[in-house]
Amino acid sequence: KRMSQEAVTRSFFSLYEVDFDNPLGSGAYGDVYLCRDRATGEKYALKKIPKEYTQNAEFQREMNALLHLRANGGHPNICMLKANFDEEDDYLLVFDLVDGGEMFYHLIQHGAYSEADASRLVRQVASALDFCHGIGVVHADLKPENIMLRNYLLQKNRADFMVKLIDFGCSEVLSHPEEHSGTRLPSRKLTHADGATTAYCPPEAFDNDSIDIDPSVDMWALGVIIFTMLLGRHPFDLDCDATDEEIGRRIKEQRRPPLKDCPFDVEISDSAIDLLTRLMEPDPKKRMTAYEMLHHPWVTGETAREEVIE
Ligand code: ADP
Ligand code: MG
Repeated sequence: KRMSQEAVTRSFFSLYEVDFDNPLGSGAYGDVYLCRDRATGEKYALKKIPKEYTQNAEFQREMNALLHLRANGGHPNICMLKANFDEEDDYLLVFDLVDGGEMFYHLIQHGAYSEADASRLVRQVASALDFCHGIGVVHADLKPENIMLRNYLLQKNRADFMVKLIDFGCSEVLSHPEEHSGTRLPSRKLTHADGATTAYCPPEAFDNDSIDIDPSVDMWALGVIIFTMLLGRHPFDLDCDATDEEIGRRIKEQRRPPLKDCPFDVEISDSAIDLLTRLMEPDPKKRMTAYEMLHHPWVTGETAREEVIE
C-alpha cells in the first residue's frame, strides 16, 4: 500500500539528476538544463518554469501544443515533451535533448555550405511544419533560435544532421484544422509584445491590430529564414541595427533587396528565387503551404545547387 502511494508522488528529483551549473540555454522564464534519467542514464533537457508563470497565456499555449503534438504521435523533426512534473515551486518539462545547438548561427559561423546543404535542412523544417499544420498547430514563432540541430556534423558529414523544432510558447492549436483557409480563429495580436519576434512576422501582422494566427504565418517566417541562409543577411534588417519599429515598417512596405542581382554579390539559383517568392508572398491566402513546399524542386533537392555559397 505504501509503495503505490510512493509511486504516485514520486518526485522529479528521485527520477532524474540535473546539472544546474551549466545551463543549455536560457528562455523567457529561466534556464534549460541538462538532466539524466537515474534508471537508464539517458540524457534529456529540463525546462524549469517557476509556478508564478504557469497561469500565463504563453505557458498554457506551450503545454496545449506539446500535449496535442504528443497525442498525435509526434514527429522526428520536433523536439517532443517526454514527461512533465508539477513540483512544489516549479513546473518541470522534460524534453528530448538536442545536442547540436541552434542551427543557423552554426551554419553562418562555419561559413561554407551549398544550396543543397540548406535544402536538406529546410526540407526537415518543412516536414515538421506540414505535420504541425495538418493537426492544427501553428508554431507562430519560427526563427533560427527555435530550430535546433542534433548530431551537428555538417563539416565532416554533411548529410548527418537532424533538425528539431523547439519552443511552442507562441503557438496556437486551431480547433478546426481541416478548415485551413478562411477565418476561424479569435484573433490574437502577433507582435513582439505577444512573444513572437517582429523580424519574422508577416506583412499582414502590421496591417491591423490583430491577425488570425494561421499556418501561413509559419511559411512566411520560413521564407525569411531561407533568405537569411542563402544571402547571408536578414531581408528586413541587413546590418542588424534596425529597431523593431523600423523592421515592422520595412516588412509592411515590402522593402527588401531584390532576389535577382541582389546588391550584396550573392547569386542564388532561379529555383531558390522561385521558392522564396512563393514563401515571402505578401498575400497570406496565396502563400505557399508546407505541403506544397515539400514538393518544390529546390526543397526535394533536384534544383538546389551543390557548389558552396561564398
Ligand atoms: P523560451 O520559450 O523561454 O524561449 P525555449 O524553449 O526556446 O524557451 O528554450 C530556451 C533555450 O534553451 C533554447 O533557445 C535552447 O538554446 C535551449 N533549449 C531548449 N530546448 C532544448 C533541448 N531540448 N535541448 C537542448 N537545448 C534546448
Ligand atoms: Mg525560445
